[in-house]
Amino acid sequence: MYYVGIDIGGMSIKIGLVSCDGKIINNRAIATNSELGYEDMIKRSADLVFELCRESGIKADSIIGIGVGIPGTADSGTGIATSAVNIGWKNIPVAEEFSKYFDVPIIISNDANCAAYGEQKFGSGAGFNDIVFITLGTGVGSGIILDKKLVQGFACAGAEAGHMVIQIDGELCNCGRCGCWEQYASASALIKQTKIAMQSYPFSKLHSVASKYGIINGRTAFIAAKEGDNVAQTLVDTYIKYVAIGLINLANIIHPESIIIGGGISHEGDLFIKPLQKYMDNNFHASGMYPTVKVVCATLGNDAGIIGAAALVM
Ligand SMILES: [Zn+2]
Repeated sequence: MYYVGIDIGGMSIKIGLVSCDGKIINNRAIATNSELGYEDMIKRSADLVFELCRESGIKADSIIGIGVGIPGTADSGTGIATSAVNIGWKNIPVAEEFSKYFDVPIIISNDANCAAYGEQKFGSGAGFNDIVFITLGTGVGSGIILDKKLVQGFACAGAEAGHMVIQIDGELCNCGRCGCWEQYASASALIKQTKIAMQSYPFSKLHSVASKYGIINGRTAFIAAKEGDNVAQTLVDTYIKYVAIGLINLANIIHPESIIIGGGISHEGDLFIKPLQKYMDNNFHASGMYPTVKVVCATLGNDAGIIGAAALVM
């Protein structure tokens, strides 16, 4: 018995056959090419599933469920992707379209929810009942699992922690409001903060790091800070504070056993996680009274989308 995990992104669709214990048996990606329409995307995805089965010597009828991660809002109850701006989707009947090719349960959810579920079942959240998963990328994605169940809210439009306001009249967000957490704590926000610091401090090591790597990205500030640059260290400290403020808000409301961080910034490891944990421990409302909320890095990495989507139907 196998599951299929499908992770639809703006650029590529990652598809994998997944065993019952969360291992990817065979996987590949195809270009999203959303301009060709959803029927075409889903047909090409189905074709690839059959191809992966053939390659692995797995009969198509040993697939017992398909999970699909959507880069936007997805209603698991109706199987409709309500909105996915990056790929131009509005009210797309994803599950229904897939059911033209497969006669098995098909469940869709937001991609961060899938990753959260994957981490809770097979990654660094394994063994916990209550976790929050946060991904720091272009925006801040989040998935909340309580009592081992995804918390998605009415019409599955909830669990959008990236849009909690942490600064009144702050930075303008894509959602139309100002001061959303993701405008301060996403990788994109850190890059923006790095560029501003570079303009103000022409002699900072941020410049030499950026030219050495030929790019300004989420690592630039961390690398320059490691080299002892004060401007970069202040930048990193402030960024960690921004991330921590959102996490503390979530911890104060939910008090999960663990908060799992995914996305490129999480690869900074101890340099990022240790001060983040310390800031949280000092500021959590019940610090000292209850066990601390453990902040850990996601472990499924690039596979989280596929494994998480497959985990939806397990
Ligand atoms: Zn927002």
